[in-house]
Amino acid sequence: MDRIKNYIDGAFCAAEKEGWIENVQPATGKVYSELPDSGAEDIDKAVSAAKRAFGEWSGLKPEERFRHLMNVADGIRSRMEEFVCAESKDNGKPVRLARRVDIPRAIQNFEFYASAALHFDSESHYTEGLGINYTLRRPLGVVGCISPWNLPLYLFTWKIAPALATGNTVVAKPSEITPMTAYLLSEVLEEVNFPKGVLNIVHGRGAEAGDAISHHPDIAAISFTGGTETGKRIISVAGPQFKKLSLELGGKNPNVIFADCDFDEMLRTTMLSSFDNQGQICLCGSRILVEASIYEKFKKAFVEKASKMKVGDPSDENTKTGAVVSKQHMEKILSYIALAREEGGRILCGGDRVKLDGELSDGYYIQPTIIEGIDQNCRTNREEIFGPVVTIDTFENEAEAIAKANATDYGLSATVWTQNLTRAHRVAGRLEAGIVWVNCWLARDLRTPFGGVKNSGMGREGGFEAMRFFTEPKNVCIRYDA
Ligand code: NDP
Repeated sequence: MDRIKNYIDGAFCAAEKEGWIENVQPATGKVYSELPDSGAEDIDKAVSAAKRAFGEWSGLKPEERFRHLMNVADGIRSRMEEFVCAESKDNGKPVRLARRVDIPRAIQNFEFYASAALHFDSESHYTEGLGINYTLRRPLGVVGCISPWNLPLYLFTWKIAPALATGNTVVAKPSEITPMTAYLLSEVLEEVNFPKGVLNIVHGRGAEAGDAISHHPDIAAISFTGGTETGKRIISVAGPQFKKLSLELGGKNPNVIFADCDFDEMLRTTMLSSFDNQGQICLCGSRILVEASIYEKFKKAFVEKASKMKVGDPSDENTKTGAVVSKQHMEKILSYIALAREEGGRILCGGDRVKLDGELSDGYYIQPTIIEGIDQNCRTNREEIFGPVVTIDTFENEAEAIAKANATDYGLSATVWTQNLTRAHRVAGRLEAGIVWVNCWLARDLRTPFGGVKNSGMGREGGFEAMRFFTEPKNVCIRYDA
């Protein structure tokens, strides 16, 4: 059985209290590795190492930090296939998705922020008759990064890379449900002689190791991605300590489809935005709102395509829909499907667990599910399900589309499908979301601000937004001689 280790101060180690957590392969439902059950002592050890490393790391020239981050990117690339297979095995996602999206993006995160270290600059303001103000941007010190299980290495590195690029040292905790690629990353750090103590990776449960990060007085900032309830817990602990917080939380994203859209392109993309990664992407559109005049046409085509989706072994190169991440999560998704039935929903396809054969018979598989007939105020449409489950609903006009799209406590992203340019701008402006895609989905430019409004979080990641988050601005005012 593989044993994952913590990576603290450039050394692999078990948790101080010697406990281990079982790590389950979602495709089979079997335990295949173990990870340290770390607690406050391990976080404290990691923070001490990060504090010791801060002076030297923050004092490096940007070109030197650039080189170190590029080495990590190259180190992951040189073990690409190993990372791809590990991510698929740990998470249940199809191996082809990990190869197309997850691991390339983790590499890109390091490369992107390596170059951002070279290009990041600060402002200055000249005032006639006074002099000049300029802004120094200094790293914060030791920062905490906590990430979820749905895009394990992709989201882990999305936080770590800008934190390091700006000169901070890091204590990072991946999800206990998908720790494997974070562990492989610590092996890469070792291989490329990454400076000791600069990036410390501590495994363990959110309620213990994660909570210890929120509590630690020497952690200056926390970048967190995960559920809204966990985000609230982190605010309640870290807020009174005035830690800087970036919180990327849940979503219940609407897809607004107008009758004048490019139907084929919309349908193709809506399949992805509904079911890619088994619907476990925070940006997936889970409430599909369709203009009444094309509703029946859409419903027929969408249900036909979704019914043909084959759920299968994630390690099979042909599989497009794999396992959901855990037994607990599968049960949560199935309970929401049961709730949808109670709320009067009609299941148009899917709705059940799928039992595969042989060693996959205990795996966590759910058929892509489409539900209609649910009011936007029902729990099915208000609460995040985070699985291969979408609802479809109609609207008569633009005002109703916007009202239904905004009828949620969340505000992460939204998708609009229309060929009418004026309407696209108008609707995009009125949707309560941090990110709006028009005639596309998940088209990402890493320079753009990324994050949500309402219960989907606070702060923005991406581009220089993340560089600003991980630095403290200090204004220096110099008066000229009269
Ligand atoms: P959780 O909130 O359960 O966990 C996220 C991370 O927080 C994990 O590492 C978890 O550890 C840790 N954690 C749990 N409890 C605490 C605590 N008390 N203090 C500190 N850390 C803690 O989310 P999931 O992992 O279930 O991820 C799914 C959620 O993430 C969905 O709501 C999804 O929408 C959201 N998400 C948001 C994104 C965005 O950009 N807005 C992107 C991707 C996902 P452990 O796993 O060990 O419990």
